[in-house]
Amino acid sequence: MFSLEGRRALVTGSARGIGRAIARAFAEYGATVAVHGVRASDALDQSLADVRAFSPRSVAVTGDLGEPGAAAKIVAAATAAVGAPDIMVANASVQVRRPWLEIPWEEALQQMQVNFHATLQLFQACFPAMAKQKWGRLVSVGSVQEVRPHNEMPVYAASKAALENLVRNLAKQVGADGVTVNNLCPGVFATDRNAEALNNPVYAGLVRGKIPVRDFAQPEDAAGAALLLCSDAGRYITGVTLRVDGGMGVA
Ligand code: NAP
Repeated sequence: MFSLEGRRALVTGSARGIGRAIARAFAEYGATVAVHGVRASDALDQSLADVRAFSPRSVAVTGDLGEPGAAAKIVAAATAAVGAPDIMVANASVQVRRPWLEIPWEEALQQMQVNFHATLQLFQACFPAMAKQKWGRLVSVGSVQEVRPHNEMPVYAASKAALENLVRNLAKQVGADGVTVNNLCPGVFATDRNAEALNNPVYAGLVRGKIPVRDFAQPEDAAGAALLLCSDAGRYITGVTLRVDGGMGVA
């Protein structure tokens, strides 16, 4: 049920962190994977090496999702290299901490563009080929901040909350085409973006106290949920927000 044999997956922001773990799991379960980063980097090379260990035809693509037209170009590059994606995980995001009264317009726009608009654009670019073959998986990556917004990340949190609404809307419209649309929501994961904050023992203790399982997640903790949503095991799951947050969203 969880096999991705013969599938092609594009995972944005998979040079590092959660996206990298999802990409590796997809390759391990048989998919050919297009990993992605903003630009060429050692991290992207390492992620590509990870997936190629399981799936030698896998490739790396690059592009800044803050730029107009980037989503379509990234999908086109993945399609040219391995064929049209059957699985699209829109994982890349931009997250800025700042008191809400000080947020500049450009910074708000960039977060909405990369986190929300680019997800819609990636879905738009991938859907036609999925519908044609009557099988596809569209996954956005949200955040526990959809329900527990951080005081200093109001735009980021709102951009993620918008994804929850988007998947409910699209799921109604594309189910008959064999395509599911879901939103995977991480809680607090020990990835690069949190390294500095979680290295502060006082802050880390405070955050841990808000998580029912009393631990931070590792990137691999998101992989099982992604596999469920993107394999035949998830055939009947669409329009949902699946939190992988150690219970933080209900605490
Ligand atoms: P991460 O380690 O910070 O990695 C982010 C990835 O996104 C990198 O591969 C980066 O590319 C790419 N990226 C950043 N800006 C981009 C842009 N403008 N255009 C295209 N790609 C861009 O991320 P993470 O912590 O694993 O988070 C992954 C997802 O989970 C994000 O959507 C995040 O909002 C969500 N999430 C994370 C947490 C958490 O605790 N970590 C919690 C809730 C939700 P480069 O490697 O080339 O820089």
